[in-house]
Amino acid sequence: MRVAILSRGENLYSTRRLKEAGEARGHQVDIIDTLHCYMDITSSKPTVRYNGEVLPQYDAVIPRIGSSITFYGTAVVRQFEMMGTFCVNESVAISRSRDKLRSLQLLSRKGIGLPRTGFASKPDKIQDLIKNVGGAPLVIKLLEGTQGIGVVLAETNKAAESVIEAFMGLKANILVQEFIKEAGGADIRCLVVGGKVVAAMKRQAAEGEFRSNLHRGGAAQLVRLSKEERATAINAAKAMGLNLCGVDILQSNNGPVVMEVNSSPGLEGIENATGKDVAAMVFEFIEKNAKPFATKTRGKG
Ligand code: ADP
Repeated sequence: MRVAILSRGENLYSTRRLKEAGEARGHQVDIIDTLHCYMDITSSKPTVRYNGEVLPQYDAVIPRIGSSITFYGTAVVRQFEMMGTFCVNESVAISRSRDKLRSLQLLSRKGIGLPRTGFASKPDKIQDLIKNVGGAPLVIKLLEGTQGIGVVLAETNKAAESVIEAFMGLKANILVQEFIKEAGGADIRCLVVGGKVVAAMKRQAAEGEFRSNLHRGGAAQLVRLSKEERATAINAAKAMGLNLCGVDILQSNNGPVVMEVNSSPGLEGIENATGKDVAAMVFEFIEKNAKPFATKTRGKG
């Protein structure tokens, strides 16, 4: 098959691994820089141009759209969908996953376990917002944050109130979330491909830290999932409509709760922690599913 990886950098670990794995399985794999794609969106025969030439009709596209280029990146994926190319993640599903509030609302509608979460723009009664999610200790999150930056633990209602006030003063969008203390600074990353959890790792925060992000000094190891955790990850991926994603789960006293679903999950941490060839599994999925015009939304969304 001829497969394109939409990625900003050919030297990024995940991009490199996907190319290697695809080639090892006999496919022709091109890395296409998403922002360098351009197109005539009004043409009755949609194409994508790149470096002065029309790109070939690929059998499949693997979108690796970073959150900073969601707007343009999903438009490029949509163009491929209009051409009938099979996209591992659909443009609408990628957009959906990038909106944390929309994601939580969708997951909640499907009955998936979530930490009690509130959001507000300009609440007149911050104390009521705090009370509404069960009071301190609370986690306050900047919607735009990544890698644990902008995630604050407020141990008391007073502290929560001042942090919320400070963020609101900066006109930042925030989430106010129940602190899952019993998770003990650990979370589970489940890598879902085609409705199956193909690898899972537990990330443990460094001493004295509650955020388990590897960028914040967390350490990862292989973990065996409970039935309930596995089902939660699969249901979350399904609710979001993502064929390839990372589902982050906390182990709470009320069972597994989903923190986030990531549509461009990194492969480095999880491949190293589990020894699994996740990149090859992505290609296995493509081999089974890539058919012309198989994308449900066909770029309509
Ligand atoms: P980011 O998307 O920036 O990584 P997260 O929402 O994933 O932010 O939070 C970073 C880390 O903080 C998580 O990996 C987890 O370890 C911890 N964390 C986040 N929310 C909670 C919570 N409600 N209760 C307990 N720990 C949390």
